[in-house]
Amino acid sequence: MKKSVKELHAIRAKMWDASISRHEHYIDKSTGLFSTKFTEERSCPVCTNNTPAFMFNKEGGTYVKCSSCNMVYLNPVFIDEELTKFYQSNHSVQSEIVETDEDDFYSTIYNQGLDSVLSKAQLLTSILDIGCSSGAFLDLAAKRGLKTIGIELNESEFRLAEQKGHETYNDSLENIDFKQEIDIVCMWDVFEHIKDGEVCLNTIKSILSINGLIFLQIPSSDALAAKMLGAKCNMYDGIEHVNLYGIETIKKIANKCGLEIASMKTVISEISVMNNYLNYDDPYMGDTKNQSSVHGIIDEKSIHENLLGYKLQVILRR
Ligand SMILES: [Zn+2]
Repeated sequence: MKKSVKELHAIRAKMWDASISRHEHYIDKSTGLFSTKFTEERSCPVCTNNTPAFMFNKEGGTYVKCSSCNMVYLNPVFIDEELTKFYQSNHSVQSEIVETDEDDFYSTIYNQGLDSVLSKAQLLTSILDIGCSSGAFLDLAAKRGLKTIGIELNESEFRLAEQKGHETYNDSLENIDFKQEIDIVCMWDVFEHIKDGEVCLNTIKSILSINGLIFLQIPSSDALAAKMLGAKCNMYDGIEHVNLYGIETIKKIANKCGLEIASMKTVISEISVMNNYLNYDDPYMGDTKNQSSVHGIIDEKSIHENLLGYKLQVILRR
């Protein structure tokens, strides 16, 4: 059944509250920020410059912008061990949300992603979804005749995907010995969680076939909604979204790995969120009156034509 925008936001709000309530455990009450025993400082994950400009604090975390390349990132950031522990305890609500994965909202976006990537090259026969959850995207890929492979670290979601017949691994990418090179590697809303994007892209490149493609969907720090709402935008969660790429920074990191942009587009306008905010309401739970344009001025078409949508979909090739 198709969900209304308000229902979807209510689901997201529930996930958000469940996740944010768990930040408290890590916060140093004297500063309101994450305790330094859980975090480490780092330089820009795209250009390695080390002169970031402070942007804002959010739920214990600190977002900065690189003064050289404009990359937006968390600094300090959780050390790997603590981030892993955080995710391991994070899944009770997410598993519940996964059950709604197959509604129209995601199916439409997933199918559009498949259309885009399949139009970019010939003879693509296998697809890997990193962070495949219960396999909703792989189900759609299987219907297109692709051999489907998934990686999922959460054990209950991994089992669901495996039961559906997808070749599924409950391990990190770098530990898996794939039997074949892979034609398409997808990461839906995953790449922004990875601290070292360069290492990740190079690892993916090493398992990719010669004509292979990488598909990324990531929240865009160039989104109009993100720029308008700033710290209030739920793209900025404080722990999990460690790297928020924009149009130039995703190009820059891809090029560093010897990859080029085959296509780039944006999806999800967030017009209703922006209108709520401009009406002084809660941007995510406000009573949306206008869903067709921002303040009667900027419509969905112009948002996406200018790559100002909430999420960037990027296809990379060698
Ligand atoms: Zn930089």
